Amino acid sequence: MKSKDQVSAARLWAAYNYPYLASALFALRFVADDKVDQIAGDEYFRVYINYDSAHDWPVEVLGVEMIHQVGHLLRGHALRAQEIELRESDLFHWVDAMDAELNDDLLDGHVLPEGSASPDELGLPESLFGEEYFFRGTTRTEPQRDCGSSAHGNPRPWDEPPPKQGKDGVTAEEKDLIRQRVASDALTHHRNHGSTPAGMLRWANSLLTPQVNWRAELGAKLRRGIAEITGAVDYSYQRPNRRQSFASKVILPNLRARVPEVSVVLDTSASMNEELLGDALSEIDGLLSTGGIRFESVRVFTCDSEAGSPQKVRKASDIQLIGGGGTDLNQGILAAVQTRPSPDLLLVVTDGGTLWPESSPSRTRTVAVLVGEDPPSTPDWLERVVVKESDDPNRDWSAKSSHIASL
Ligand SMILES: [Zn+2]
Repeated sequence: MKSKDQVSAARLWAAYNYPYLASALFALRFVADDKVDQIAGDEYFRVYINYDSAHDWPVEVLGVEMIHQVGHLLRGHALRAQEIELRESDLFHWVDAMDAELNDDLLDGHVLPEGSASPDELGLPESLFGEEYFFRGTTRTEPQRDCGSSAHGNPRPWDEPPPKQGKDGVTAEEKDLIRQRVASDALTHHRNHGSTPAGMLRWANSLLTPQVNWRAELGAKLRRGIAEITGAVDYSYQRPNRRQSFASKVILPNLRARVPEVSVVLDTSASMNEELLGDALSEIDGLLSTGGIRFESVRVFTCDSEAGSPQKVRKASDIQLIGGGGTDLNQGILAAVQTRPSPDLLLVVTDGGTLWPESSPSRTRTVAVLVGEDPPSTPDWLERVVVKESDDPNRDWSAKSSHIASL
């Protein structure tokens, strides 16, 4: 079969089996390149293929590779790598983690792309987000797969320059349109046939529901905060090195990644919207565990006009919300940063009706999680995420916030 016919046949196979991906599949542009090992994509919907390796691939093998590349592009894996400031040395583990996220969504009976990781190989269950596989998954030792800059945003030697016009590749605006179209097709397909894979459905729902933006924003900030800290390798003296017996009286430090210390200051003054506070807390709980941090290791300080003593609880819903007076979060922030070990990441959940410290606490990244419509401005040194009411009828807010209903 000629290479052009091979691509056409594989694309039809893919669109027939995954009809909701058709808009993305037909936007792919194939470039023959013998620098690439087998097949790899870039961020502009271009797929570089080495026909010396791929000429005898059955239609479904190339078809699954197309589905896979489209997956990296639709899910924004390159941008997500940028969000956590992915390091070159973690690139293959990142690709494995993203591949595990995508491989969940292949239909039964379809072979995984060659050499790509499954959730099982990373030691984790199915249906998790790529970041969960990345932070919590085991690193594979066998030869790993480079799916191209489509998967991690790191330019590859075969990548062509960004497209100047539509025919050279897909531009950023077109990419947004393709994403919207596929998300809408995935939901329609699910309504009519009920067979859209779970991960795809979750992606489509989150893309088409703008109210969830604060969750994505908060997620990005937390992931980045956690990644920065876990990425900073620390020479720790806490556990003796196994070589110590050979080193007489000198204690050798152990090289290990540090688990970040996270604290939360919770505004419990009378002005707080309890329902949104509950939403913000359950979201933080979920996001931290996604980043490999158990909620029970997080210190929580309630604060109205004064700070309460730190609480450590198993889940966000167990926090005792003590307070109800005026607001001075300076007290809570001070209490949090003075408690040892001092936090690497401090989340301040509030409606914003408070005074703030004039400068950032040293060595602590601080994020204000502002609950409610149009919260007041915050100092420049403070990162902020605004948590708003959702009017999405599909979302069951009452269930999520029921734990504070008894207050
Ligand atoms: Zn991949």
